[in-house]
Amino acid sequence: MTITAAIVGYGNLGRSAEKLIKATEDFELFGIFSRRDNLDTQTPVYPVADAAQYADQVDVLLLCLGSATDIPEQATGFAEHFTTVDTYDNHSKVPEHYQKMNAAAESSGHLSIISTGWDPGLFSMNRVLGQALFPQPVQNTFWGKGLSQGHSDAVRRVEGVKRGVQYTVPREDAIAEARAGGGEDIVATEAHARVCYIVADETDHDRIREEIVNMPAYFAPYQTTVNFISEEEFERDHLGMPHGGHVITTGDLGGSQQSVEFTLELESNPDFTAAAMVAFARAAARLAEAGETGARSVLEIPLYLLSTQDHDTLLAREV
Ligand code: NDP
Repeated sequence: MTITAAIVGYGNLGRSAEKLIKATEDFELFGIFSRRDNLDTQTPVYPVADAAQYADQVDVLLLCLGSATDIPEQATGFAEHFTTVDTYDNHSKVPEHYQKMNAAAESSGHLSIISTGWDPGLFSMNRVLGQALFPQPVQNTFWGKGLSQGHSDAVRRVEGVKRGVQYTVPREDAIAEARAGGGEDIVATEAHARVCYIVADETDHDRIREEIVNMPAYFAPYQTTVNFISEEEFERDHLGMPHGGHVITTGDLGGSQQSVEFTLELESNPDFTAAAMVAFARAAARLAEAGETGARSVLEIPLYLLSTQDHDTLLAREV
């Protein structure tokens, strides 16, 4: 089955999804729906307001929209016309998003897989798997080293900052402690450091450093380091979007201590998020083809549906 996919929203994730769909054999790309009309791409671009009229030509729609406002405001509208997959990452509101998407997809007869990506997404699956293995699991999630968009935006708002990025860096000793079974007392704010790289005039350095390290919520509770670098160094070393992390679960199994770990080291957060999204888009298209409707979380998707191979092949080769 060749799956015809379309993308809505052409930011970092939309660009990564475009690249990946074109490189994936069982997919073809119908086009991109955007609020903007002059995108820098060879792919056909359609006004997002007209998306519904193309619904019967698209097997699955990748919602590459922002989680802050786009997804809460627009996702159900797309589920009324399309099979969808999204990467909604506002963890505390995921159950609410699920309910809304379920109602929209059920009533329109479509299928929507929500909150794919890596966290939520692959990390969620691994948290559940890790917890299932132990009577009393001890589990920690560490994020990074990775570029945080929200914290980078916050440093760029400090007066005098010309360029700025912030990396979240997990403490190696905390990771080692979690692996050794001592994760129970690890607090996320103490287990992660924040490292900033800033371009600014030298006369502003001391004030900018003070303002950043004392910024409430964003930096004050964390061990924060502010490095001032040249424009050239910034251009050379800080334009990528690396990320990653670890889900570590340990537990006692009647006298024996075990440790289970899932690790990601990502050179590009959007490229990897798009990869997870495309795998779940494959599952969504197959479930829709089989007549299933409503919302699904990543926990409800049988693993074999993510694969390009069929179940019989996987059974013979991987089980
Ligand atoms: P962006 O801010 O790059 O893009 C979001 C939207 O903004 C786009 O869909 C696009 O819509 C619009 N946009 C993008 N660039 C411009 C521009 N130059 N001018 C005007 N509008 C623009 O977000 P990302 O693609 O980086 O991330 C999307 C979401 O993915 C995030 O909100 C995050 O929540 C989620 N995410 C989830 C992860 C997970 O593991 N679950 C991991 C990483 C991200 P349009 O084309 O219609 O203008």
